Amino acid sequence: MEAGDPITSARGVGPVLGGKLADAGCRRIRDLLAHLPIRYEDRRTLGRLPGPEEEPSPETAPGALTVVVRLEKPRRVFGRGRFSRVQAIADDGENRAGVVWFNRPYLLNQLEEGASYLLHGVPRRRGGDGAWELANPTVERVGEETPRGAVRPVYGRIGDVPPSRVERLAGGVVSDMTEARGSNWIDEWLPEEERARHGLPSLAEALTEVHRPSPEASVGELNERRSPAHARLAYGEFLLQQLQLAAVRRRRRRQGKPHGYRICDAVRREARGLLPFQLTGAQERVLQEIVGDLSGPRPMLRLVQGDVGSGKTVIAALACLVAARSGLQSALMAPTELLAEQHFTSLARLLGSHLTLALVTSSQHIASDGRAAVRERIAAGRVDLTVGTHALIQERTRFARLGLAVIDEQHRFGVAQRQSLAEKGLRPDLLVMTATPIPRSLALTVYGDLDVSILDEMPPGRSPVETRVISADQRDQAVELVRERLRRGGRAYVVFPLIDAGEGSAAALPSLEESASWWADALGAPCGVVHGRVGRDERDGTMSRFADGSIEVLLATTVIEVGVDVPEATAMVILGAERFGLAQLHQLRGRIGRGTNRALGESICIAVSGGSSADAERRLAVFEESNDGFRIAEEDLRQRGPGEVLGTRQAGLPQFRFGDPARDWKWLVAARTDASVLLDRLAAPGNETLRRQLERRIPGIALSSQEPLSSQETVAP
Ligand code: ADP
Ligand code: MG
Repeated sequence: MEAGDPITSARGVGPVLGGKLADAGCRRIRDLLAHLPIRYEDRRTLGRLPGPEEEPSPETAPGALTVVVRLEKPRRVFGRGRFSRVQAIADDGENRAGVVWFNRPYLLNQLEEGASYLLHGVPRRRGGDGAWELANPTVERVGEETPRGAVRPVYGRIGDVPPSRVERLAGGVVSDMTEARGSNWIDEWLPEEERARHGLPSLAEALTEVHRPSPEASVGELNERRSPAHARLAYGEFLLQQLQLAAVRRRRRRQGKPHGYRICDAVRREARGLLPFQLTGAQERVLQEIVGDLSGPRPMLRLVQGDVGSGKTVIAALACLVAARSGLQSALMAPTELLAEQHFTSLARLLGSHLTLALVTSSQHIASDGRAAVRERIAAGRVDLTVGTHALIQERTRFARLGLAVIDEQHRFGVAQRQSLAEKGLRPDLLVMTATPIPRSLALTVYGDLDVSILDEMPPGRSPVETRVISADQRDQAVELVRERLRRGGRAYVVFPLIDAGEGSAAALPSLEESASWWADALGAPCGVVHGRVGRDERDGTMSRFADGSIEVLLATTVIEVGVDVPEATAMVILGAERFGLAQLHQLRGRIGRGTNRALGESICIAVSGGSSADAERRLAVFEESNDGFRIAEEDLRQRGPGEVLGTRQAGLPQFRFGDPARDWKWLVAARTDASVLLDRLAAPGNETLRRQLERRIPGIALSSQEPLSSQETVAP
C-alpha cells in the first residue's frame, strides 16, 4: 500500500465504503491521512464517577472523565418531534450516574444490560434532581481485563462515514503501512536540512503521532494543534505554497510583456502641468516605483496602500497618462457603479483636456451615445482611459491595446475577477490600490509575488479627524456635536451595527429599525436611510441626494464603508462601536474629513460604545488616539494576530488544511524564508521527492487544499 493508492486498497474498504469515501473527496490513502482528528481524549487515567455530594475527580483532562462502568437499563426515550435519546444508568461499583445520548438511536442495539463499558465524557448536574449525568460520552465495550488507557483521536465524519469508522480506518492504515514498510512508511519529501534545522519530525513520525498518539503525547498540545507533529504538517504545507509562489514569481520575471512604454521628459512635463498642487514626498516615491515597473520588461503587479485621501487616485491618473502617451489604453475599475461614476467625474476634470475618457456602467446613467457605441470606440482604440466597475470591464469590454489596469479598493475585488482578467488573455500591468492597509510583513508573506508601495503621507492642508469615544448613555453629547457641524453647513453619517433588533444575539445593540427615528428627531435635519436591504436604485438615489446636500444626515449600516466622496461630510457617529474591528472603524472614519473647506470646521468622529470587554476598550483607545492606517493595522496585528487581521482584510486568501496563519505564524514566516533558498536547490540530487511533490500539483496530503500551480498563477496576487 502506498499513499497514492486508491482508498479501496485500505483494509476493510470495499467498493461501497470506498464509493462513499470517494464521494466525499477521500479518494486515496493520502486523503484519508490528511483527514486529521478534530480533537483528542485523554483516557490514560481511569477515574470514578463522582458521588452525589462530590465534584468530579480532577485527575483527568479539563472536566472530562474516563471511567469503567456497568450499564443498566439501556432504553430509548422519545422526545418532541423526530428526536429521541438513549438513556442508561452507569455504575462503577461505588457511585451511580445517568447517561444520555442524543440522536444516536443505533446505540441501543450495541448496549447490553449489565455489561462493562469504558465511558469518556464530561459529567454535569442533571436539571431537576441534581444527580450526576454524562451526556454524549464516547462508549466502548470492555472485556474482563482492565482496559489500557490511551490518548484517543476523535475524528469528524467523512461524508456519510461516521467518526468511529474513520478512526478505525485511519489507525488501521497507519499500523498496516508501518508493518509493511517500517518506521519510514511514507515518503519523506522535506529535505533533511530544513527538517533538522527546525527540529521537526519526519512525515511518517508526524502522521503516526496525529493518528495514533503515543502514550507520552501531550494531549493539550495535540488539541491545540501545537504539537511537533502538527507543526511539521503545517510547515510542510506552507513551504509548498511558498515554493509555488516563488516559482510563479520567477516565471513571471522571465516572461516579457507584449507592450512597452516610452517615458520621456515631455510626458514628465505634461504630468506636472496637470496638477494644481505638488505631489507629496510619498507620492513622488510611489510614482517612481510605478514608472520603474512600467518601463521594466515584465508586467507590473503592484499594490499601493494608503489611507483614504492620501492621493492614490491621483497617482493612478498619472500612470494612465504615461500609458496613453505610449499609445496604450488603461482601465480603472471601482467596486461600485457610484464610485465608478465619481472616479470618472474627477478623472475627467483632471485629465479631460489631455486624454479621451469613457465611462462604462450597466445602468441607465449612460452616456447619450449609448453603451454599444462606447464599447465600439474602446475596441477601436479611440478611448485612452475607460472607467467602470470590475464586472463590466472584464466581461464585455474589448480593448484594442490594453496596457494598464488599475483596480481600486482591492479588498472588494475577488480572486475570481483577477482570474477572469487573465483568462481574457490580457497581460496588462496591474496596479491595485487599497485604503485598508496590511502591515508590510504580512503582505509580503501572504501575497508573495506582489510588490508593495506605501503612501504614508497626507497631502498638506488637511486637518485630521478628531475622534471621541463615549458611552451609550452620553448620546446627547454626540447629538450636540453633530448639530454643531450641521449648523456650519456640514453633513453627517450615523452608522448602526444592525438593521433590525432581531439580528444579533445581544439585544442591547442599537439597530436602524429601532432608533433611526430617535436620531432623526434629535438631529432635526433631513435624513436618508441606507442599508444592505435597500434596493440599489433607491440607495444610489439617497447617496446622490446626500452628496448634493438635499439630505444632510445619512442613517446607515456599514454599506457606506466604501462610498462616495462627500467633501462636506464632517461628522460621523458610530453606534455599537465595540462591535467593530479596528480596520473597519478606521475605514468608516475615512468617509469624513475629506474636504478642505475651512468654513465647515474640524471633522469629528464619535464612537459610541455600549459597555464592553477589555479587548474592545483597548481597540477603541487606539482608534481614538491614532489617525494613521498603518499604525492601526500594526496594532490590529499585535492585538489580534495575523489570521484575524487578514481575515477582515482579504477574503480571497489561500485556505490551508493543516496550517493556520494565525496560530502557525512563525512557521509561515520560516517557510517563506526557506522557499526562496530551496527554489535554487530544487534541481540538486536528494530533492527528487520534493520536486515530484511540487510537480504533482494535485490535492492530497502534500499540496492539500492548494490549487494547482497553473491556476495559482492566474490567482496571484
Ligand atoms: P485617495 O484615492 O487615496 O483617497 P485621492 O487621490 O482621491 O486620494 O486624493 C484625495 C484628494 O486630495 C483629492 O481631492 C486630490 O485632488 C487631493 N490631492 C491628492 N494629492 C494631493 C497633493 N499632493 N496635494 C494636495 N492635494 C492632493
Ligand atoms: Mg481613491
